[in-house]
Amino acid sequence: MPQSIIERCEAQGMRLTGQRRVIAQVLERADDHPDVEELHARAARVDPGISIATVYRTVKLFEEAGILERHEFRDGRARYEDAERDHHDHLIDMNSGEVIEFVDPDIEALQERIAARLGYRLMGHRLELYGVPVDRKSRA
Ligand SMILES: [Zn+2]
Repeated sequence: MPQSIIERCEAQGMRLTGQRRVIAQVLERADDHPDVEELHARAARVDPGISIATVYRTVKLFEEAGILERHEFRDGRARYEDAERDHHDHLIDMNSGEVIEFVDPDIEALQERIAARLGYRLMGHRLELYGVPVDRKSRA
C-alpha cells in the first residue's frame, strides 16, 4: 500500500513544520492538478498564516524529493500531483483548461513496442493530449 505524502517525507528524513504538514495534507487530499495559487488557497483555509512563498518552497522541496510530480500544460503554470498515484495520461481541454485523466492499454502497449524496437526497456512516459470538445449536435 502506498505511503502517505507525510510518511514519505518522514522516511526521507525531511523536517516537517506545522505549515509543511498542512500543505502535505492538502496535497494528499487533492485528486486534481492544483497550481501553487490553488494549493495556497486550500492550505490557507486550514491555516490562514501560510504564505504563498511557503507553499512555493514546500512544493519545490517535495518535487525535488520525488514526492510530487510537476506538470506544465502549456499555460505557463506549474501544477502538481502526488508522484505515487497510479500511472495515467492527461487530456487538456483547450477551451476550459480542464485536465482529464485517462489510461489506455493500447497506448501503453504501443509505447512498449516502440521502445523495444529502438532497443530500450521502457521505464516511464508522459503523454499530454490537447483538444477542444466536439459539438455533438453538429456531428450527425
Ligand atoms: Zn494526473
